Amino acid sequence: MAMSENRWIEISKEALIHNYQQVKARVGSGCGVLAVVKANAYGLGMEACGKVFQEQGASMLGVTTFEEAAALRKAGLMLPILVFAPLSAAQIIPAAALGLTLTVTSLEALDRILEGIAPPGQLQAAGLTPLQLHLKIETGMGRFGLWPEEAVGAARTISGHPSLKLTGVYTHFATASASKGPYFRQQRLRFQEALRALEDAGFKALVRHCANSAALLACPECDLDMVRIGTLLYGQMPASDAGEKMELQDPWKCLARVLEIRELPAGQGVGYGATFITKRPTRVAVLPVGYSDGFQMEPVLRPSGFAAALKATLRLWLRCLKAESQTCHVYFDGNPAPVIGKAGMQLTMVDVTSLPQVKVGDAARVPLRRTAADRAIPRIYRD
Ligand SMILES: *Cc1c(COP(=O)(O)O)cnc(C)c1O
Repeated sequence: MAMSENRWIEISKEALIHNYQQVKARVGSGCGVLAVVKANAYGLGMEACGKVFQEQGASMLGVTTFEEAAALRKAGLMLPILVFAPLSAAQIIPAAALGLTLTVTSLEALDRILEGIAPPGQLQAAGLTPLQLHLKIETGMGRFGLWPEEAVGAARTISGHPSLKLTGVYTHFATASASKGPYFRQQRLRFQEALRALEDAGFKALVRHCANSAALLACPECDLDMVRIGTLLYGQMPASDAGEKMELQDPWKCLARVLEIRELPAGQGVGYGATFITKRPTRVAVLPVGYSDGFQMEPVLRPSGFAAALKATLRLWLRCLKAESQTCHVYFDGNPAPVIGKAGMQLTMVDVTSLPQVKVGDAARVPLRRTAADRAIPRIYRD
């Protein structure tokens, strides 16, 4: 391990594989898994995670942008890649050259694809196969998608074009964690109508997909031909009360080494704004993480289930009674040390008075918001 580092993130490939297998077992052999690796694989490292999922037999990888897809190809990933967001006309030929699958997010976006691919014969002359497209249907997310009644027209335009190939159709749920709710039901209905219209018009062999992590857990009928999964693969449960649980492993561990230990007298301020004043002589450890690394930006995890919600509420009351601010902890060998004062941009102080064994160079486990975790922090992958 690169032990000259004073902070790093350990990623367990074993945990990623375990989570992938859990998802795969849930959907069964008739349904493919598109592994979503957008946003640097939710912070875990897009190229390395993409390789793991490719080796595990994922059907596709999913990213938001052309740039992300190009980075995956550059890293040698050969799996089909679905790009969720629309591209500019200038990106169409490069996307075809990389063998990407693009999303038709609107009729306008389809025009841009046609513009980008013109003049006809360009792809064939370059020895490229037709550009593959998936239709996205707007059913209630308000982001990307053809209106359901536009789907058949778009499908006809694509199938009439020698350089384009329609291979899939999908939608994205806004409220999949509330799968019993009317909004979710309406989204499903609209999607089903679009699917039926496409089938009736003769487009029968499309890969149909709609389920994200929350829908996978909450709606077994949503599996269709493929599911698009991010959250579960990275060991986290979607913020959802609905649906079954899944046994997941957490592949993520961020560690930071103590840079300095200092003994502060009672009555001294710690950190910007001196928002924390020591009440007693305090042994303080300085750690090389701050908010620029995604530290102290953890979302407050939504409790799942009534009991957990009750517990969280009680905890909040207790906190208020004790007039404690939301204390965040780091862990030395599992022993908690509270953060004191405001986290700085790159440095944070923790109270190690009760952990006299902690010394300069020791590593603490620190909670980081994964998607905000600085990409400059080395990721170390363990088998
Ligand atoms: C991010 C994303 C997903 C994955 O969602 P999870 O809830 O993390 O599983 C699926 N589909 C699309 C279009 C997305 O943008």
